[in-house]
Amino acid sequence: MAETPLVRAVGLTKRFPIGGGLFRRPRAWVQAVNGVSFAISRGESLGLVGESGCGKSTVGRMLLGLIPPTGGRIEFDGIDIGRLPRTEFRRLRRRMQVIFQDPYASLDPRMTVEAIVTEPLFADRPPRRAERRRLAAELLDRVGLRASDLDRYPHEFSGGQRQRIGIARALCVRPELIVADEPVSALDVSIQAQVINLLEDLQRDFGLAYLFISHDLAVVEHLCRRVAVMYLGAIVETAPAGEFSRRPLHPYTEALIAAVPVPDVRRPRPPFRMEGDVPSPIDPPPGCPFHPRCPYAFDPCPRETPPLVAAAPGREVACWLNGGRGLSAPASAPTSPAKGEHSA
Ligand code: SF4
Repeated sequence: MAETPLVRAVGLTKRFPIGGGLFRRPRAWVQAVNGVSFAISRGESLGLVGESGCGKSTVGRMLLGLIPPTGGRIEFDGIDIGRLPRTEFRRLRRRMQVIFQDPYASLDPRMTVEAIVTEPLFADRPPRRAERRRLAAELLDRVGLRASDLDRYPHEFSGGQRQRIGIARALCVRPELIVADEPVSALDVSIQAQVINLLEDLQRDFGLAYLFISHDLAVVEHLCRRVAVMYLGAIVETAPAGEFSRRPLHPYTEALIAAVPVPDVRRPRPPFRMEGDVPSPIDPPPGCPFHPRCPYAFDPCPRETPPLVAAAPGREVACWLNGGRGLSAPASAPTSPAKGEHSA
């Protein structure tokens, strides 16, 4: 029998109202997440990548129960968390923790490191002070800080050290899943590598599962076994890490790869660069949401939304050109330019 995934999201949607009030209807709705499904096994890491505002952080917040989904469901260890009574959800919530993006804003400047790191213990019955202090010292050691740092305050640390404190806090209750929301994007590049290596070590040592949210495809591909690309609230491509750079199937993924600077002039230039901004999620375009920016758009794209379908072993794509109806362009697309004909 197939093992139950640690986390499963099924058809998640989230709409946020704009305007309105207690007795007034909202003026409009923002469709932040639209039918997102995925599963994460124990000890596995899934990367969620996309531009700012594509809905990836909203997915992470729904997974943690910080905001309720408008539709769909989330199962943790086979349990539908939307149906759990509050007290039971609080108990289950200890098994999933979060690492935030901004190590400066996510730590309370008035709390000592010891108090910050052991804070999650207070959601239930915390152990005695001596035991908490021993645990905090152990965690600091595990993330590369010293026990002598326990009585210091966040402002006394660098950005990378603060992120290590945040990681120690997330580990405090021995979670099984960590939602890491842009955990290295606020750090210097040299520090980013250290924190990513630390996250890899911790995953191996504690058998952690990660939902790793980032706008940086290279970082996500390094840390995660599987990657899902989001655009305007929906997943448009999934693949094992490494496959994207070799052969992106969705034009948006291709554009993300093209956006990564290539210092080696001998390497081929990316086929195209993306123009324009992400369309407004208040009024998303009909058909394929990427069609206003897609240089390959053809007949069905502005009218019909391509479903996310299997396109190759272990790969899914939502694109009429590369997967929606097989791996070749439909016959109705004679004017569709071939890949590589577009440049910035
Ligand atoms: Fe481009 Fe059409 Fe594919 Fe959308 S469905 S990504 S518009 S080719």
